[in-house]
Amino acid sequence: MDELTSRIKDLEQISGALEPSEEKRNELLAQVGGYANNFINNLPSAESYSPKKAKSEAFFFDGKSKSLEKVLEVFSEEVASKGIRAASGGHLGYIPGGGIYGSALGDYLAAVTNEYAGIKFASPGAVAMEHELLNWMKRLFGFPESAVGNLTSGGSIANMIALTAARDRHKVKGAKIEKSVLYLSPQLHHCNLKALRIIGLEDVIIRHLELDEDSKIITRDLSEKIMEDKEAGFEPFLVIASAGTTDTGAIDPLREIGEICKEQKLWFHVDAAYGGFFILTESRKALFAGIELADSLAVDPHKGLFLPYGLGSVLVKDREAVLHSHHYSANYMQDAIDGSGESDPADLSPELTKHFRALRLWLPLQLHGIHPFIACLEEKLLLTRYFRNKMKDLGFELGPEPDLTVTYFWWPVPGGDEEGFNRKLLQEIHKDGTVFLSSTSIKGKFVIRLAVLSFRTKLETINKAIEMLIRIKDRISAELYS
Ligand SMILES: *Cc1c(COP(=O)(O)O)cnc(C)c1O
Repeated sequence: MDELTSRIKDLEQISGALEPSEEKRNELLAQVGGYANNFINNLPSAESYSPKKAKSEAFFFDGKSKSLEKVLEVFSEEVASKGIRAASGGHLGYIPGGGIYGSALGDYLAAVTNEYAGIKFASPGAVAMEHELLNWMKRLFGFPESAVGNLTSGGSIANMIALTAARDRHKVKGAKIEKSVLYLSPQLHHCNLKALRIIGLEDVIIRHLELDEDSKIITRDLSEKIMEDKEAGFEPFLVIASAGTTDTGAIDPLREIGEICKEQKLWFHVDAAYGGFFILTESRKALFAGIELADSLAVDPHKGLFLPYGLGSVLVKDREAVLHSHHYSANYMQDAIDGSGESDPADLSPELTKHFRALRLWLPLQLHGIHPFIACLEEKLLLTRYFRNKMKDLGFELGPEPDLTVTYFWWPVPGGDEEGFNRKLLQEIHKDGTVFLSSTSIKGKFVIRLAVLSFRTKLETINKAIEMLIRIKDRISAELYS
């Protein structure tokens, strides 16, 4: 062997560690599988929240190799046991989802095969799978087949893609920015406002719409504001509505808003990141009437389809509007152009290389069929009602009946420090950790919020939550009034 060959062979020896043998693979997989089983089996008894901070030195990388056993130990102690246990049914804060096992298997296969999901030349199968999932969603939401879409990392990017398309269709740039007006609810998720800044629309005029008692957009106010703006020489171009607000789970009057947008030639975007998949349920379907009028829609499978974090989606009717900002060709990509006219995922989002995230949705849908998902959504709706009934009987005050599965409550302290009491209540809930709840502020009032969307949240979980609330509330009362 010459010197070059022998040097290559030496390196091959060392780099070979990156390709474990089948025997070794089986061993590693068994260890991870064992860990996962243990983790899932222990979820019902484990606390849902721990305020402990992670020790960053535990993650320090010294360049040396360690056993998987050792690595899993660090993972277990420093990751899986701290903060919100998002896989737990006791995660009732923010918007949970749980993380179904079938998705984990999809992610595993996606990582092993490493399909390049951005361009169909590279992986026609991965791209066709993504397109078919999006076609399914188009049918679900009454979008035409000609609409385009993208599987994104989450709702934030999904909303951003949609808002970028709205911007480009209405050519909101240069001097036009400061004259352009968009209309939204004060309850709209903040990621839309963040997206507007990212896409250069920080200086558009934003009109906050009036809301009714159920925190829904009052459409008369929308019509009036559009008229006033047009008369004043401004250029209305966009209305953003929610199908399931984060704070109260409210669905805006989509049909009426859609009709106004059509008449006034405005882009109608619906943020359905949290609520969208409730359209699958018989009991809530009607609330989504009019969503088919939207020009664009964002909906998160990592919420309403219970997937682990990392999957949102966007649908947009105007393909050209999406391509304007996202389609690009480069010399080094010339082999990838197939001339079919069908867009690649890379033409419809900021990403070129993308995680093969279709598989984490497709695999569980194929494995289970749709019925368990629908039953799970209906179950969450009834659990929310059950929780509210019990809480009312116990003397808690509740926000209005929600459309979906987010509700809020507080303990009334007539003539006393109600906010102080409820802040203390939340603090103690976090210290206790049995279940995790978060808080919000509704019209300036501090309230505690419950979001039922983890597929693992069961009747037993809600009963546990209620027992915990009684226990903590009684203890605070005893401390304050003894
Ligand atoms: C969660 C949520 C978002 C943001 O989506 P991410 O997936 O967290 O990026 C946007 N809008 C609504 C209504 C949400 O509930």
